[in-house]
Amino acid sequence: MHNAEWASAILGHPFPGQHRVTWPDLYLLHIAAEAEPSPPPPPLATAAAARHRAERETARAAVEQAYRQQVEEWEQLAAGLADLGVRAEVRHNYTSHRHLDCYRQGGDHIYLLDDLHIGRLQRSAGRVLCFTPSRAKDLQDFPDAATDGRPPTCRACLTTARRITTRGAVT
Ligand SMILES: [Zn+2]
Repeated sequence: MHNAEWASAILGHPFPGQHRVTWPDLYLLHIAAEAEPSPPPPPLATAAAARHRAERETARAAVEQAYRQQVEEWEQLAAGLADLGVRAEVRHNYTSHRHLDCYRQGGDHIYLLDDLHIGRLQRSAGRVLCFTPSRAKDLQDFPDAATDGRPPTCRACLTTARRITTRGAVT
């Protein structure tokens, strides 16, 4: 006799009962029972499933929370840049030959729509904030602004934005 909860989990659909189960399903349960001679009783299986669900939801909430914080920070940084007279938007780096690398480092950069000139830091409009001449080849294809509201993920861009917007507030 199979317990219904375990059998349903194995079959992927509700276990119709020992007398109604089809032969192929019965055979599948037979194999599963051999592999797992003492399946956990329903309350344990239910509790384990509930625990997994709770863990998944906690993990998802943490990811959403982190994303919200990134979006909020970007709004503040963009406002700080605007105070410096520099409009900026988020653009994805499509430069192909280092694409994987960029994904790992964060492929969404802070793209400048105005010239930036703060102390020794100079960036032309149409460049990303982390642009350097030595990395020009890896930072050339930025066709469109991200329209999905995503925050920048490039660490170098973010670090510079934090630095100059803080300093911008002081000067
Ligand atoms: Zn960048």
